[in-house]
Amino acid sequence: MNRDPNCIFCKIVAGEMKSDIVAQDERTVAFSDIAPAAPLHVLVVPRTHYTDAAAVDDPLDLQAMFRMAREVVRAKGHEDTGYRLVLNTGPHAQQSVFHVHLHVLAGRQMSWPPG
Ligand code: AMP
Repeated sequence: MNRDPNCIFCKIVAGEMKSDIVAQDERTVAFSDIAPAAPLHVLVVPRTHYTDAAAVDDPLDLQAMFRMAREVVRAKGHEDTGYRLVLNTGPHAQQSVFHVHLHVLAGRQMSWPPG
């Protein structure tokens, strides 16, 4: 499993940095975003370090991220009203943490296009 010693999400995965973990499995960890943009705002990360969505070269990690997102939404009771999944990738998308993370947002009416 790849790890970057300077990556904060690698530290959360390893249990070296405090976070509000809501679910985990052998490939992913899901934890609450510290600056929530919706009533439910969870980040799903693979345990393996990839800088962004484009770098994920194991389809099983992608599959595990999307499965975990759905499980969290279901467990929190938002499946019926829907949810948004976001992968900010690169500067125009304002990616700020360079360990790929799937934003899982739910619990309010959203608008389109995103800002
Ligand atoms: P992005 O702009 O897509 O790279 O999103 C990074 C997200 O990580 C932001 O929504 C931050 O609020 C969130 N974040 C940064 N540090 C932490 C942390 N230590 N624990 C939880 N969420 C974090």
